[in-house]
Amino acid sequence: MSAPPQDVHGFAASYADARRAWLQAVTALGGRLDGQRHPAADAQGQPLGLDTAHFGDPQATSVFVVSCGTHGIEGYAGSAVQTAWLKAGGPGALPPGTAVLLVHAINPWGFAHGQRVTENNVDLNRNFIDFAAMPAPHAGTAALHPHLMLAEWTEPAIARAFDAMDAFRAREGEQAFSDAFNGGQYRHPEGLFYGGQGPEWANLALRQLLPRVLGAARRCMWVDLHTGIGPYGLPFFFNFDAPGTPARQRACAVWGEASFNGHGATHKAFAIYQGLLIDALPAMLPGCEMSAVVIEFGTHERRRMQRAHLALAWMRRQRAETEALQRARTEYQEAFIPSDPAWRESVLREGVRLCQRGRDALIATDA
Ligand SMILES: [Zn+2]
Repeated sequence: MSAPPQDVHGFAASYADARRAWLQAVTALGGRLDGQRHPAADAQGQPLGLDTAHFGDPQATSVFVVSCGTHGIEGYAGSAVQTAWLKAGGPGALPPGTAVLLVHAINPWGFAHGQRVTENNVDLNRNFIDFAAMPAPHAGTAALHPHLMLAEWTEPAIARAFDAMDAFRAREGEQAFSDAFNGGQYRHPEGLFYGGQGPEWANLALRQLLPRVLGAARRCMWVDLHTGIGPYGLPFFFNFDAPGTPARQRACAVWGEASFNGHGATHKAFAIYQGLLIDALPAMLPGCEMSAVVIEFGTHERRRMQRAHLALAWMRRQRAETEALQRARTEYQEAFIPSDPAWRESVLREGVRLCQRGRDALIATDA
């Protein structure tokens, strides 16, 4: 499951290439590197790791963080944005007490193997739960699950899965469908949006790494970059802090209130997500006021994305290289990192602009 997309328009051709370009850009600007080495390797036997680059005051109390690759393959976009920003000058000179932290490839295995999930089919963004107190499953997950496990990647088989999904939606409503489809589930290890049975490597790696690289931080604005939801090539924001809370107010102050109005959504109803990384950050850094947002770059309409999720569950169960597998893989890659140059140029342009905006806000609020 490698064969990643072509190296065009600032997007790397492999995880190793993306990491190399990122390390080079970080080093050129004097960033301080740290990270955690993943026990596995990529398809060529090259090392995998979660890397961080710290710019500015090593003891900074106010930090702007940009992370990518929580959903493996989506890291192609986030990595390209980080590297493009660095090449355009990056954080530049930062006042004392402030810093920028780039977090590269939170799920390096998924990035290197062209999948959203980890080596254990775990959606890392459903893995940050308290495993001692497992959440009750979303109603309908068990009923929907068997219909999502395709026996073959053919149009009739895909159509049958969509018939079952449409019937569920008609019967239970949009919200129940979204919750059951992609809210997160902990009982079907081969299934979609599986949250795991314990913390994944990347989850534990972050818990070790963050106190080391952000130990002095007291205020943090965190952006986790993704792809797949929202208008084509344009940013779409998520923040799950309650309206009126300081974290929400800070998010609105930096990104604009309108960023969180749901305009451009590709979903009729968003799932009630369980186990998101950004919701777990405050507990990882006690004593730090955290305001965290997910920024997605939209790709395709929801049905096409649902096909991609079905494709991955099918692809992971294949043992032989076939024409159907190649077709499914291409469709999967196009869903999360379109090869369209216009999409890639838009993501880089918008992404660099957002990084700059976060950096400027860091300085403005700290000055
Ligand atoms: Zn994602």
